[in-house]
Amino acid sequence: MEKECLACGKKPLDKNTIGINKKLIGKSIKTFYCMGCLADYLGCSVEDLIEKIEEFKEEGCTLFE
Ligand SMILES: [Zn+2]
Repeated sequence: MEKECLACGKKPLDKNTIGINKKLIGKSIKTFYCMGCLADYLGCSVEDLIEKIEEFKEEGCTLFE
């Protein structure tokens, strides 16, 4: 099923976006934010999120492409 942003309805959300939602909000969540809305929600910038994704990838996290 196609995932869309809970806040703005943007879709589809890519695997990295879904992965960072799960990492930062919780694995069991069923609704997801796009990068912009997640940054707003967490009070950080999209660039911070992209850096986080890169960090998790380097750790070999399977939630990311
Ligand atoms: Zn959004």
